[in-house]
Amino acid sequence: MKVVKVKRRSQVLKNPAFGCLKDIPSVNVTRGCLHRCAYCYARVFPETPKNEVQLYENLPEKLEKEIVSRLKRGRKPKAVAFSTASDAFQPNEAILQISFECMKILLKSGVAVSFLTKGRIPEKFFSLFNEHKGLVKPRFGLVSLSSDYRLIFEPRTAPLYLRLRLIEKAAKLGLEPAVRIDPVIPGLTDREEMVESLMRRLAMAGVKEVSVSYLVLRPKVMEQMEKELPYAFWQKIFSVYQGEPWCQVITSATTKLVRKEIREKGYALFKEIGRAFGLTVKICGCKNPDLPFEFCAPWEIKEKMPKQKELFK
Ligand code: SF4
Repeated sequence: MKVVKVKRRSQVLKNPAFGCLKDIPSVNVTRGCLHRCAYCYARVFPETPKNEVQLYENLPEKLEKEIVSRLKRGRKPKAVAFSTASDAFQPNEAILQISFECMKILLKSGVAVSFLTKGRIPEKFFSLFNEHKGLVKPRFGLVSLSSDYRLIFEPRTAPLYLRLRLIEKAAKLGLEPAVRIDPVIPGLTDREEMVESLMRRLAMAGVKEVSVSYLVLRPKVMEQMEKELPYAFWQKIFSVYQGEPWCQVITSATTKLVRKEIREKGYALFKEIGRAFGLTVKICGCKNPDLPFEFCAPWEIKEKMPKQKELFK
């Protein structure tokens, strides 16, 4: 897929109006994402280009101006999150350079940076993070150590063992990396032996906290997965959503969740195995509005936690 440079016209630092990201501005350096995960909901947004990834080449310039203006008004954001609908570490030099410049501007201004990635983080980022320890909240997306899983669901992301090495490196630098196990694929990546091998490796890599959520389905994501996964495989996954009602999850009123008893059993297993390896396991509250709320974002804004009733209508 080609990467096309475009100019960002609108404001960069906007607070997403959903879930636990509500009070944290987020930055997406691209529209679209080279990783193209089969389950990705951002791929089916109407504004996401289908055959290219658009890179906002003027993002650092705009971001710098906005930060200076906010500092003058005493409105420095506490943290900025990369990225809600893309990945800051996609395999493309120009994208990585824009991500680097944006993170540098924020960190030098004393603004904490959080990111969630399934990509390869180049060395120069670690040098930058090392200079700003305490302001960097890295999170890595890692669902399974099975190469079959990666091949089917996220073949363009960084290899799983490379991601483990990046996690290890972040832990050695004292960055306290957390891992997001999302989306758990029912009947596949929630099998006891798979959960155990993942948790063991994460603990060995120096992880202390993980957040977990099962795959949530929206109509367009269902179409995408049906098209991209082997048919029988998709049918098996979909069987645990069949008959479940559409519900409000984050911004979408048409979301299907895995049957509640399957999620409860699966989450209990993740918690039990995680505990055995000394890991704190949190269940993503935003994506499980019918379960007791757990706050799994890396910043402390607990007084502003979304109410369960607001999420589950
Ligand atoms: S890395 Fe994230 S944003 Fe990119 S395709 Fe995968 S799920 Fe979507």
